[in-house]
Formats: sequence, structure tokens, C-alpha cells
Amino acid sequence: MKRRAQGGHKYIFVVGGVMSGVGKGIATASIGKLLTARGLSVNLVKIDPYLNVDAGTMNPIEHGEVFVLDSGLETDQDMGNYERFLGRDEGPDDYMTSGMVYASVIARERNLGYGGKCVETIPHVRDEVIDRLKRAASVSGSDVSVIEIGGTVGDFQNALYVDAARVMHLLAPGDTLFVMVSYLPVPGTLGEMKTKPTQNAVRMLNSYGVQPDVIIARSKRPLDRKRKEKLAISCNVHPDMIISAPDVESIYDVPLNFERDKLSDILLEALGEEGKQPADLSVWKEFAEHAHDGDGRVKVGIVGKYFDTGDFVLSDAYISVIEALKFSAYAHGVHPELHWLNAKDYEADPSAVSELKEYDGILVPGGFGETGIDGKIAAVTFAREEKIPYFGLCYGMQLMTVEYARNVAGLTDAHTTEINPNTPHPVIMILPEQVEKLARKDFGGSMRLGAYPCELKKGTIAREAYGKDEVSERHRHRYEVNPEYIERLTKAGLVFSGVSPDRRLMEIAELPKKEHPFMLGTQFHPEFRARPLSPHPLFSAFIKAAVERKGKKKA
Ligand code: GLN
Repeated sequence: MKRRAQGGHKYIFVVGGVMSGVGKGIATASIGKLLTARGLSVNLVKIDPYLNVDAGTMNPIEHGEVFVLDSGLETDQDMGNYERFLGRDEGPDDYMTSGMVYASVIARERNLGYGGKCVETIPHVRDEVIDRLKRAASVSGSDVSVIEIGGTVGDFQNALYVDAARVMHLLAPGDTLFVMVSYLPVPGTLGEMKTKPTQNAVRMLNSYGVQPDVIIARSKRPLDRKRKEKLAISCNVHPDMIISAPDVESIYDVPLNFERDKLSDILLEALGEEGKQPADLSVWKEFAEHAHDGDGRVKVGIVGKYFDTGDFVLSDAYISVIEALKFSAYAHGVHPELHWLNAKDYEADPSAVSELKEYDGILVPGGFGETGIDGKIAAVTFAREEKIPYFGLCYGMQLMTVEYARNVAGLTDAHTTEINPNTPHPVIMILPEQVEKLARKDFGGSMRLGAYPCELKKGTIAREAYGKDEVSERHRHRYEVNPEYIERLTKAGLVFSGVSPDRRLMEIAELPKKEHPFMLGTQFHPEFRARPLSPHPLFSAFIKAAVERKGKKKA
């Protein structure tokens, strides 16, 4: 039967088959990118089936970065990819966890909101999911919602969401599409691509009453015609609706690759939206090609507390920082060569810090707690004294302030009260509104979170980089520069080039250019606002300084 579009809001559900970690988030972001390129307005939604009410309470080294929205909601790292691919901000309605959904159903039940009914997962929790998806669509004002259901088909936890999608399809079959991102292994012993796991995954999805319209076939290699046909016949999906999605060098190639198999045509036709403008991906393509360019490197050392994790996990924990460095590096025609440097090594052997001399730039990212703290401060001292470009993000800014207080302003044993509550010079201290929250163990979603305005001081590196007087940046912290030390630190030469409009909170600290080529820290997280086609001005200024240092080293 030919599908007939019903003219309502369109919903595309993306589900995973066979196994996780094969790029469902990037596939969702890429679908959003392609539909946007065809002239549709899109909101991307992530559903995380876990019971945490948000992602803020999870350890990023184990679960990946906590991505903060303008609204202050702490979300999954996929939301960062969505914003970067779409080039637009995501709203708080574009994210849900099972914890969030159940919490609102339970709160409503406690208020007699169900009028004396027995409240059950089906239909009440499912209906709450549907309401949230509809609200996200209407709040964003988009034409199409692309919704990623976390996990893999067959998981106990995400069955609720698949069922919500089924019901939405039942109510508006012509306006709802299902895309399954599945994996086709090529076992080393056989050397042949196997379709059976995907056939089984589709059967599993069928058992929920859902038939996929499109299969995105992830594999090491491209899918050949023979396998497309085999999958088509066994999964009841037209061969043209099966997209070959081999491994690629860079995630930014994925939308371009999907378009080779005409994915946007397929989706638009299925949704009755044919006749839209052709996809113009030329600017994106030009950007994506930078990721392949071999020449030009800039060596950046990221100093942090790294446990015995591989690069694989770290790259998830710091994904927005890494991507922000890439965008600014590409804009300068170079590639960032990133090295993870364990701050603890500089504590065990203080002379080890001299290895930083080999770097073009040093970055201390956000962080919490005591581990490696002295090593990080030693790295800051080295960067300052050796005039190596330094960029501090949140904790990296606080520790830059501590270091300056101790070694330049003469405030012996200055510290952040996060580490030493009895320091004689608490140059970084807890935000007053945080004290009570911590005392009652109110840790969830309780930091200073989300977008706040920041006024920039004329004639500073920050003001010059941004090219405007006021900016808005996203925060996630409990501590800040102690107002009582601002005067002493300023007198000693530290410049607070960004402040909150009420002048109470110091948002950017830097050293004057005549003292140091680039020594700057931000209380906020600029990485959350870096986009492929509009790199972040402060990251770009840091990379520029690193490129200049590299040039000087060569000369
Ligand atoms: N631990 C510091 C604070 O809570 C820094 C937080 C961060 O780097 N995100 O203020």
C-alpha cells in the first residue's frame, strides 16, 4: 500500500538493532542535517531509557560527557552532536529520560491528577511520553521531529518508547516513519558480511508491532546489491530504502555518505514532502574535507585527571572540547594533535612538567575534586612562566586564578575551598546559594547551570576574539572567584575580562597580551557553543596563539 501523508507534524523514530555503539546518535543527527538542507525545520529528540532524572549525576569518564543546554538541563552527549550537526540550539523538551518521565507521572498521581484511576506504565507512562514528544514538536515549531530511542530493540527498558512510537504511528501512519540503524558484522574467520543479526533485529521490532521503513546498514564495508536484496526480502523493506553506511574517517562524512544512497529523497517521499529544494551541502562538504587533510598539525596537551582509561573513553568524556578544538583548528588550516596528559605524573615527579615545553598549547578542562590538582596547578605555572598558550575551562580557570594568587599576588597557600576549606586565602569559593544545597545532599541539577550573560571588557583578548560587548555562555559549576579577592588579584595583574552584568561573578580571567601570548580561562564552558560552521571565538584565539608558537619554534 502506498503511504499517504496526512499533513500533520512528521515524526521519524530512529531505533537501534543488533548492538549499541554503532552510531545511532550520529545517524539521527545526520538525518536532521539532511532534512534541514532540504529546507525543512527539524528538532532532534533524545530518549535515554535510564532512571537518572538527567545526565548530570553520572560519571563522564564512564558514561560520556554531560552536555548542558541553554536552559541548564544536563543531557547526554548525543545532544551535543545534534546541536553541532543542526547548527541550532536544542530545547529542554528535546530530551527525556525514564527518570524524568516517571517523576512527572508520579508527581501527577500524588496530586490526584489521574482522578482516582490505577496508574500504570501502559497507558499512563506511555501517554506521558507521547505528550512530551508532541510538546517538543510544538515548542520547537519544527516540521519534522527526529527521535532517537536509546538502547537496542529488545532491551527491556526501551520497550515503553517503542510502544509510544507504535501508537503515534497508528494514529498518523502517513506522518510517522521508522528508521532502524543496524549492524552487519564481517567476522574475521569468514570475511563475509552477515545479514542474519539484522534480520533477527527486524523480527524483534516486528514483535512490537512495528515495521521499519528504512534500514541504515552500518558495517565495516559498504553494503553490496546482493546483500541489500537479501535484507530487503527478509526484512520486508524495499532495497532502495536500505542505506549503506560503512565506517568513515570522520563523523562529519556521515550525512554526505547517506546522501549518496539518496536518504533525504527517500525520507521526503515517504513523508509526502517531495518537491522540496535539493540538498545544498557544499559548505558542509568543504568543512568535512578539512577532517581529511593531512598537512599541518598543532600539538595540544590536555592536562587532567585521567584514570586508567583508554583514549576511546576519554574522547567521549571530553567530546565537546575535542570537537571545539577541531573546528577552530580546521578554520586555521591545521589539525589538532591531542595528547592526554595525566596531572598526577607532575605530582610524582615535579620535573616531568617540563615535557609541556614541546606543546604548542595547553588546555585544562572542566573537572571536580582533588585528584591531580597539584599537577594541574604545576602545569598552569609552567604555561605561564614559559609563555605557552594556555586555555582553562571552568576548573581550568579556577586553578589559573589559584596559581596566580599563590605565585604572583603573593597569597601563600591560596586555594579553592572545594579542595581546602581552611585555606588562608579562599580565592575560589562556593557560590552562596550552593551551601545549603550541598548540606541537604541536593546534588541533582543543582549547580549553576545553563546560559548566563557575560559582559566583556574593552581592549582584552576576550573582547577582541568575540568582537562584541556581551555574550551568553553555558555554565556548570558550584564555585566562583571570591569577590573579596578581586581587587588584590587585579592589582597583581590578573585581568577579569568577562563579568556578569551585576559585576558579582568573574566569568573570564586573562593575562595582558604584552605579558603572555594567550593565558585565558573561562568560568563557563565555551565548548558547548562551538559549531562546525561557526567555531568558537575563544577556541579560535587559543589555536591561533598555538599556531603562532609553533611557527616561532620552527623559525
Ligand atoms: N569543580 C568546579 C566547580 O564546581 C569546576 C566545575 C567544572 O569544571 N565544570 O565550580
